[in-house]
Amino acid sequence: MAYRIHHINTLTMCPPGRALVNGNGSVFSAGRIICHCLLIETEGGLILVDTGIGSADVADPVARLGWEFAHITRPQLDQKHTAVAQVARLGFKTSDVRHIVMTHLDVDHAGGLPDFPDAQVHVFHAEHHAASQPLWDDRFRYKPVQWAHAPKWVIHRPIGERWLGFDSVKALDDDILLIPLEGHSRGHCGVAIRTQEGWLLHAGDAYFHHTEMTDTPNCPFALNAFQRLIASDYGQRTRNLSRLKSLAREHNDVLVHCAHCPTEYDRLALTPLVA
Ligand SMILES: [Zn+2]
Repeated sequence: MAYRIHHINTLTMCPPGRALVNGNGSVFSAGRIICHCLLIETEGGLILVDTGIGSADVADPVARLGWEFAHITRPQLDQKHTAVAQVARLGFKTSDVRHIVMTHLDVDHAGGLPDFPDAQVHVFHAEHHAASQPLWDDRFRYKPVQWAHAPKWVIHRPIGERWLGFDSVKALDDDILLIPLEGHSRGHCGVAIRTQEGWLLHAGDAYFHHTEMTDTPNCPFALNAFQRLIASDYGQRTRNLSRLKSLAREHNDVLVHCAHCPTEYDRLALTPLVA
């Protein structure tokens, strides 16, 4: 059983138009989007769920992340925000991270992989395939340079036992599960972690804003447009979001959060935001 989970923000993006991104404030001020990763302490070492962008990305953002990402999302680039820096700040060695579980391989999630070359990297086959041989319209989201160091991939296929009405695949053991949530990308998944209180489900990019999980869903205009634009299958993404809402409503012991919502992150973070 996981015995301590750190919520870490590995990247803050400040695109223009806060009202259209966060649903509050002015359209003339900067928005705030975060990259919510998890660092899990276990008796067998550390497990990282998603990696944000990495130290090499911070050093050369346009070349590694692409002009579009670097200029449209306006990332705050600082080495101290990277997962590897935060692991060190929590008192661990880089080599203590034995496993990385990826919700998907988009540019803002996979950039930290080269900072942990010895970790086993768990991902669904469909995502690995899509990212390894990106189609023309996927070239903005996947950056093969982020895995040019040949990570120790552990490729999973979405065949497993049922978990609260969802398919599930054991990533490592009975306490860390991959939950297929395709739609945002071809092999996108959530990661469920058993805790002493129940389950924490990192839903990745299955949704972007906390209000999407309410009974009267609402998503700021720019976020909604981006999700439609980037989705590999918007219909599937919408169906999975409905299932997530039912899960959260019917199971009080399951806590769901996504990767990019600062409101959820601020609520869950056990450690202060890295300034
Ligand atoms: Zn993302």
